[in-house]
Amino acid sequence: MEVFLLSCKVLITKYIPEEGLEKLKRYCDVIMPKKNEKFTDDYIMEKAPEIDAIIVVRYKVTADFINKAKKLKMISMYAVGYDNVDLKAANANGIVVTNIPNAVTEATAELAFALMLTLSRRIIEADRFVRFENDKNWHPFLLISNELYLKKLGIIGFGRIGQAVAKRALAFGMEVYYYDTALDENSEVELDVKYLPFNRILEEMDYITLHVPYVPSTQHLIDSKELSSMKKESFIINASRGKVINQEALIYALKNDIIKGAALDVYEKEPNVPDGLKKLNNVVLTPHIGTTTIETRTRMAKEAANRIIEFIEGKQISNIVNSDN
Ligand code: NAD
Repeated sequence: MEVFLLSCKVLITKYIPEEGLEKLKRYCDVIMPKKNEKFTDDYIMEKAPEIDAIIVVRYKVTADFINKAKKLKMISMYAVGYDNVDLKAANANGIVVTNIPNAVTEATAELAFALMLTLSRRIIEADRFVRFENDKNWHPFLLISNELYLKKLGIIGFGRIGQAVAKRALAFGMEVYYYDTALDENSEVELDVKYLPFNRILEEMDYITLHVPYVPSTQHLIDSKELSSMKKESFIINASRGKVINQEALIYALKNDIIKGAALDVYEKEPNVPDGLKKLNNVVLTPHIGTTTIETRTRMAKEAANRIIEFIEGKQISNIVNSDN
C-alpha cells in the first residue's frame, strides 16, 4: 500500500471531466489525454508497465495488456458493463476490477425512454420532414404515429436501469411488465408492475426494452425466433449491449414487417453500424450515448476515481466485480 501511495500512476484511457479527479490527483500522477486529444492503442500499451491503476473509458483490456502491466493493481471501469475486460487474466494477476453501477442509472433510463418516445412518435422523420420535405400540406394523418399512453411495456432485465425506466413509463400511463431471471411472480417489487415469463413478454407487449448485462447467456437473447413471436405492431428498444440482439435477424424483421420498429443505442460490432440498419426508416439510432450527460459524466469520473482512492486509503473497495480478489 505504501509503495502505491508514494509513486502511484493512474492512466485514464480517454478524457473525462476533471472536476471528478481532484482528490485522485492529490494522491497520484494522472495520465489522461486533453479534451481534444486521443491516446492511441500503442501509447496505452507502452504505458502499461508503469501504471498502478487504470480508469477504463471504452478500451478493451486484453490479457496482453494485463500481462504487460506488471505493477497494475486495479482496473476501475468508467461504466457499469465490464465485458471488455479479460477477467480471467485480471484474476490470474490478482488485479481488482471495479465498476460504477449507481452513477449511470438515471441517464441511461432517460435515454431508453427518449428512444422509445422518438421511435413511437416518429420524431426523427418529423424533424427531417420539417427541414427537407415540408410541402405545406398538413393533414390529420401527417406522420401518424403511436402513443405510449395505456400501452403495454415489457422490461427485460429488471435491475437498476430497468426499474428506473419502469418509473418513467408508469408516469406516462403505460402498463408495465417485467421479466428477469433473478425474479419471479412472487418477488416483492415496490412499483406497480407485474412479472411475466419471457415468452409472454415477447407475445403480448407493445413495447419491449432490454436492460440485461452482456454475458454468455444473454448473447442473442433476441434472435429470429423471439422477433417472430413479437406482435407485428410492436417496437423494441435496446440500450443495453449490442450482442443481446442478433442484428441481422433484427434487420430482417424490420424489413419484412415482422415488428414495427426498433431504437438502438448499442450495436454488435461497435462503432460499426451496418448499412442494412441505416437504410431503414423504422429504426432510430444513437451512438452509445446512454450515459452521455454532463451531470452523469462528472459523477462517473468521481465514482471511478473513488474506487482507486478507497484502495489507496485502505478502505473497503466498493463494487468489485471479480470477487475472487
Ligand atoms: P443490473 O445488474 O442492475 O440489472 C440487470 C438485470 O438483468 C439484473 O436484475 C439481472 O438479474 C437481469 N438479467 C441477467 N440476465 C438476464 C436474462 N437472461 N434475462 C432477464 N434478465 C436478466 O444492471 P443495470 O445497471 O440495470 O444495467 C444493465 C446493463 O445496461 C449493463 O450491464 C450495461 O451493459 C448496460 N448499460 C448500457 C448503457 C448505455 O450507454 N447504453 C449505460 C449503462 C448500462
